Amino acid sequence: MRKKIAAANWKMNLTLQQGEALLDGLLAQSYALQPHHEVIVAVPFPYLTMAVQKLQQVPQFYVAAQNCYTKASGAYTGEVSVDMLQSIGVQHIVIGHSERREYFQESNQFLAEKVDAILAKGATPIFCCGEPLPVREANEQNAFVAKQLQESLYHLSADQIQQVVIAYEPIWAIGTGKTATSAQAQEIQAFLRSELASKYGAAIADNISILYGGSVKANNAVELFQQPDVDGGLVGGASLIVDEFAAIIKALP
Ligand code: PGA
Repeated sequence: MRKKIAAANWKMNLTLQQGEALLDGLLAQSYALQPHHEVIVAVPFPYLTMAVQKLQQVPQFYVAAQNCYTKASGAYTGEVSVDMLQSIGVQHIVIGHSERREYFQESNQFLAEKVDAILAKGATPIFCCGEPLPVREANEQNAFVAKQLQESLYHLSADQIQQVVIAYEPIWAIGTGKTATSAQAQEIQAFLRSELASKYGAAIADNISILYGGSVKANNAVELFQQPDVDGGLVGGASLIVDEFAAIIKALP
């Protein structure tokens, strides 16, 4: 059975002290996690070590970085490599978030290199994709997102693609309070899985977790996560509030 994942994306929010309090608050609650459940918390770089220290003893909880660079080391001022992240106990890395694509000009081709750098070290990429509003309004979202997968992921082998977690995040739903309906999320995520199946075969596509992101909250998580092709969520705003994110974890089916 493929993994069902509740992933938090803190983005560029919180001080160290606020981050510590948030993790302590989450850990104070009890979760009846099943073997196929995972909780992943993507925190800013300066807080990774703190988060690893708090979560490394907690089964099925993992810390993620929100980005990485493609090179292992060298003269790349301001960048952080996969090796560096692994050396502090981080094995999950979010890449290709729409904010990075938009504000830092990350292309599908560059993200293909990041995926390769992460997989080469045996770490797990959480690869974000999703269409902007004009594309959705023109009803061209399927082709848009399929191209993102093709250009960033389809060079991978069948073994490699199963190491990737995909997060579908329609840009018009991120931080806007405007969630895709569960039917919209299901429709495009089923399409993405069928695309993966035509490239890699149905059995492999069936193993790949596809998360939904974009205004996931405690009050819509249950319905979203019950969709057969929605394998959990990547959660921004609501992940900054203990009770919200705790409820989202508990909504994993
Ligand atoms: P949001 O962000 O939950 O605040 O919409 C989701 C994301 O960008 O990962």
